[in-house]
Amino acid sequence: MCILCGKELEEKTYICTSCEGNFNKVCTKVKIEQDAEIFIDECIAIYEFKGKVREIVHDLKYKGKRDRAELIAYLIYKNINLEADLITWVPQSNTTYNKRGYNQAKDIAECLSKLTGLKCEELLLRVKQTKSQVLLSGAERWYNVCDAFCAKRDLKGINVLIVDDVVTTGATLNFCSKALKQKGAHKVYAVCFAKSC
Ligand SMILES: [Zn+2]
Repeated sequence: MCILCGKELEEKTYICTSCEGNFNKVCTKVKIEQDAEIFIDECIAIYEFKGKVREIVHDLKYKGKRDRAELIAYLIYKNINLEADLITWVPQSNTTYNKRGYNQAKDIAECLSKLTGLKCEELLLRVKQTKSQVLLSGAERWYNVCDAFCAKRDLKGINVLIVDDVVTTGATLNFCSKALKQKGAHKVYAVCFAKSC
């Protein structure tokens, strides 16, 4: 059944072609521009963060509709060729986790792992408790997540793919990448369901 309109589907695609046709697909490389060192090798976003795409993310993050993670993972998988040794996700702050009870980025990463056969592992920890990025300006976001993460283990020569739902400035993903590279990761890529500007 289509997650959005309820139409019966012949295959397990989570969404019907007409609902999917309403999404504004961009599949764009996200440019991360700040006066800071860039650690991320490539960041791709699939859709613009608006309309139904935004609704799906909100359902997943704020309405407890965790099945949306399967849809998001499916749409990422369908639209781009993913290559990495390991898939991981952006860790939440403790307050967000306590409030929500789950990490939506982890849900998406685990679904992507099932679809691609790539191994999924928790590699990142938040070492600095940060404010929610939602109400912060670009520069504030950058400062807020600066060195907020560390990697849990040695990653020498490993290529890592970080999965997240929405990318805005790329600050969080950049500092996640920095943490992974400090432990020896070779390339760090990121894939996000949507790009918000
Ligand atoms: Zn539909």
